[in-house]
Amino acid sequence: MINQKMYQLGASPSKIRDLFEYGNRRKAEIGADKVYDFSIGNPSVEPPVKVREVIEDLLANTNAVSLHGYTSAPGDPAVREAICNYVNRTHGTSLTKDNFYMTCGAAASLEISLRALCEEGDEFLTFAPFFPEYRVFAEAAGGSFDTVLCDPESFQPDIEDLRNKLSKNTKAIIVNSPNNPSGAVISEENVVKLCDVLREKSAEYGHPIILIADEPYRELVYDDVKVPFLMNYYNDTIVCYSYSKSLSLPGERIGYIAVSDKMTDSKDVFLAVCGAGRSLGYVCAPSLMQRVVAQCQGMTSDVSVYKENRDILANALREYGFTVVQPDGAFYLFVKAPEPDAEKFAEKAKEFELLLVPSDSFGVPGYVRISYCVSTEMIKNSLPAFEKLAESYGL
Ligand code: PLP
Repeated sequence: MINQKMYQLGASPSKIRDLFEYGNRRKAEIGADKVYDFSIGNPSVEPPVKVREVIEDLLANTNAVSLHGYTSAPGDPAVREAICNYVNRTHGTSLTKDNFYMTCGAAASLEISLRALCEEGDEFLTFAPFFPEYRVFAEAAGGSFDTVLCDPESFQPDIEDLRNKLSKNTKAIIVNSPNNPSGAVISEENVVKLCDVLREKSAEYGHPIILIADEPYRELVYDDVKVPFLMNYYNDTIVCYSYSKSLSLPGERIGYIAVSDKMTDSKDVFLAVCGAGRSLGYVCAPSLMQRVVAQCQGMTSDVSVYKENRDILANALREYGFTVVQPDGAFYLFVKAPEPDAEKFAEKAKEFELLLVPSDSFGVPGYVRISYCVSTEMIKNSLPAFEKLAESYGL
């Protein structure tokens, strides 16, 4: 009567969601301020003031019927033009609005892109650790899914493993930098090497291997770290962008797909994106939010709060004896579990009311992910619990 694959997906929610729900129950039992919930990647910094101003202005001064009405299927042309102009100005690209398709965030951008590309027998790759929904999206699109290693210290991509894993069946590789969950940003040197291998293997197999850049954390970087814009390094690139994190609008579901104008059969790929959006029922991303983001190009929520959180937490955890991957971007800290089984470590952490996500579902065992997009006060209050956790392992 029902599709068993869909039933399984619905009946076994992600570990992250599970822990988040546990946290809500625990907060009701002992009080919200006593539970240190680091489970979910919900931005804790308000959107820039301009977001509210634009919403208020649009509501006050735009005809409500057109403001809330359907836009054209790939998005309002003026919105796509505004985003396109910003991307061209910022990255020196030569895109047109017809390379842009508005979506309900990065999740929709990814699923549309994978569906647009996937043919029978295709495989999608990504570097581990990775956002666990990639597997769900790749399999839902009809493809298979496999992972490529990263260096265990720096979490930069292992280019030799990439060379070995690419096969004639590889349709695309999803690259997520800044990365959820490691916080690593792929260096320009490694971007160049990665793209060289993709070019070499595309030539060997006689078809382009596509690079899908999943970029919800593009602007969330610290110090002087630069995130190379992958379209400028590799022609066969599709960018999946989202405003969920950069403008702190995850619940508003807004983002876009940009298909490089330089990609092989670019116009056909864009039409396949339109077709995939149509087949999924994802046409016409939320109209009001399209207009909002068009006027907030180049703005970002206050990243200095995340940087402060990162510094307080990473320094304290190192002091307590934990091994911490230094994040250059996003808002996650990847911490080595002091015992081989990260699930057991996360269970132990719960005894100190610390909710940490074990890394198994991210494709790299032995770590926990700490989402530090929470209040700085909570970070500070949680430190004694981390210290006790460390002591319980004799660190
Ligand atoms: N990709 C990565 C790496 C993410 O971390 C997330 C959300 O946390 C998404 C995609 C989905 O983002 P969105 O809320 O824009 O759908």
